[in-house]
Amino acid sequence: MSPQPAASSAEGCLTQLRFWGVRGSVPSPGPATVRYGGNTSCLEVRGDGEIVILDAGTGLRLLGRALMSEFAERCLKLTLLLTHTHWDHIQGLPFFLPLLRPENELRILGYEGARLGLDNLLISQMESPFFPIGMRELDGNIRVEELKELEFRVGRIRVTATHANHPGKCMGYRLFTSAGSIAFFPDNEPPLGRKRWELADDEGLAQAEREHQKMVAFLQGTEVLVMDAQYDRQEYEQRAGWGHGCVEDVVSLAIEAGVSQLVLFHHDPDHDDETIDRMTAEARQFAVGLGGTLQIEAAQEGTTINLPK
Ligand SMILES: [Zn+2]
Ligand SMILES: [Zn+2]
Repeated sequence: MSPQPAASSAEGCLTQLRFWGVRGSVPSPGPATVRYGGNTSCLEVRGDGEIVILDAGTGLRLLGRALMSEFAERCLKLTLLLTHTHWDHIQGLPFFLPLLRPENELRILGYEGARLGLDNLLISQMESPFFPIGMRELDGNIRVEELKELEFRVGRIRVTATHANHPGKCMGYRLFTSAGSIAFFPDNEPPLGRKRWELADDEGLAQAEREHQKMVAFLQGTEVLVMDAQYDRQEYEQRAGWGHGCVEDVVSLAIEAGVSQLVLFHHDPDHDDETIDRMTAEARQFAVGLGGTLQIEAAQEGTTINLPK
């Protein structure tokens, strides 16, 4: 992973992934988190002529500023894939500067799960008394679409989607660019991990095994997997069933699925930089113990990954 600022160009590679927000649950700025960053879930993928945004956490505000500075008067045509509508995945949307210009277009795709309609949910977070300006009062063209299919295209990028293991409806995506594939599961609890801490009956275990195999098949051969790894083993013992991953379970899953690079994501707001360093080192050690060549990094705000690797 490159330590350069995210505003650097994508020259010399076909696809570039940029981290604008890496934190889970709630923004956590301050001196203890300055290295990995305190903004919540937001990635940018540029490749095959597209700009695809993954999630609209508070990192989206920084991405909006960078896009406005880079594109100036030129119009922007953007696609946003939302995994779900928990706060840490949508709170950047009201602060996304490109939406203030009428020539810009934002297509938003996602499942909402509460049967209220994705459009309605996004509008409601900007209703008075929560926010001073309504979403439909913004000048930019916003199109909100409920995903009907688990496979679709964004220009030349093929996208597949599947349900993550997280409270409510939550999706994970895999983007097949011409330079390799990127999978994004910001909130996910590997199903087999959880069952180890429960007195599951045979049927429960069989169900978890089926979900696990489905996930392994979905991720098979992914070049870059960005996945929720919020807890270490000790924390997970207290928080199994909360819908977030334990680092060791995520490493095991990535190795089983033949992933090339795993990026630990959705850092706990109470984890300072040193804790994330420790968890990353432990994850690497655990991966070595399992054999294989999995590369592991912790997601860091402002960094990029280029494909092909
Ligand atoms: Zn989250
Ligand atoms: Zn969530």
